[in-house]
Amino acid sequence: MTAVQAGASPAPASASESFSNVTCVFCGLHCDDLEIERTGQSLQVTRNGCGKAKAGFERPLVKSEPRVGGQPVSLNEAVAAAAKIIRSSALPSFGGLGTDIDGMRAVMSLADKARGVVDHAMGEGYAQNMRVLQTRGWFMTTLTEVRNRADLLIFTTDVLKYHHRFFERVIHAPQTLFADGPVKRTIVLIGEGYDTGPISGPGVDEIVTISCASDRIGEVISALATLSKGAPLPAETIAGVPKPQLEDLKARCEKANYGVIIWIPSAFAFANADLTIHRICDFVKEMNVKQRFAGLTLGGSEGSTSAAAVAAWQSGYPLRVSFASGAPQFDPELYAIPRLLKSGETDALVWLSSLTPDLAAPQTSIPTIVIGTFDMKLDREPDVFIPVATPGIDARGQIMRVDGNVVLPLRDLHRASGLANSIAVLNAIEAAL
Ligand code: SF4
Repeated sequence: MTAVQAGASPAPASASESFSNVTCVFCGLHCDDLEIERTGQSLQVTRNGCGKAKAGFERPLVKSEPRVGGQPVSLNEAVAAAAKIIRSSALPSFGGLGTDIDGMRAVMSLADKARGVVDHAMGEGYAQNMRVLQTRGWFMTTLTEVRNRADLLIFTTDVLKYHHRFFERVIHAPQTLFADGPVKRTIVLIGEGYDTGPISGPGVDEIVTISCASDRIGEVISALATLSKGAPLPAETIAGVPKPQLEDLKARCEKANYGVIIWIPSAFAFANADLTIHRICDFVKEMNVKQRFAGLTLGGSEGSTSAAAVAAWQSGYPLRVSFASGAPQFDPELYAIPRLLKSGETDALVWLSSLTPDLAAPQTSIPTIVIGTFDMKLDREPDVFIPVATPGIDARGQIMRVDGNVVLPLRDLHRASGLANSIAVLNAIEAAL
């Protein structure tokens, strides 16, 4: 077997260095305006960035080595052990997929050769969206369009819990393309548990709160659709929301120049959540008969937007693809890794998490290979563990923004971690099969 080229950043040319316009990998928004100082191997976010970014970039680098059966080994030995597990597996699963575009290309190539299944850790939320896209179609917008045009934003999830700078970067933007200053906007919050404090800011004219349980948001949207068609509501309250409040929201929607409804699929953690997405997308389409309206889905963390895009352009299918037959096949139920683990159909798990330490591999007793960050959280010692560089900190790369329209460059911040590049590791495993 050819020795694996670690591919990590070289020793830094200077003891300290400043970086500007750094892209952050710690949520799907991928803010690209961070300023970072490196002193030796320590990083500090000095401008922009949120608490999540600070916690991610400023983690102290600790020494981590490849392990097989819990014992330190060389990188080549770890790669050989991983290849042996995959080679003897009838149906290996490739999950987690917390990586950038080139990392995902390497996963797809390895899964193809190994005749395995590919599914992201956030595959269920993604599948909920795909079910709607495939069966009904949808009308979506981008962060840029929202920033420059949207004057009515209807939230069905507290986006700030997932993307801390969403309002700062998109809604409170001091400059926009078609107005002198911020767009004057109405913010509508449907659901529960919102913190309205950080929502106020430049351009936010009014905040309207419509309280209801999350699993009843679909009913509120259906009522809105009914009123928009001029049909009567069957009750005086829908999901606990009084009829006058629904009529007021309908009037706001009709008055809007550019309305947008926003959701995060993984936040809809209730049965048949895709029906709520279904209702949102149908309402958006109906509104477009007379005016401009769009949807915006904001999952996209842990590299999931990149993973979905690469899966589509390399296999022709969305995520949850199997190469078991020798050709790619898609099925959002059949090729869900949680289901394959539960049913015992998969007999080896390869788990990739190179962006954050938090994407823990599922509990399983089957042979498991974890290719993760140096400080990866592990519920149990995997059969093989290979620590790898994080794209955007220890290696260069590209990652797709949450709206799937912009690919951002990831920088090597020269902290000389000595960690192997996950692409080199995946390629070496593939070569050793
Ligand atoms: S909002 Fe997300 S991408 Fe932006 S700085 Fe915070 S964690 Fe990073």
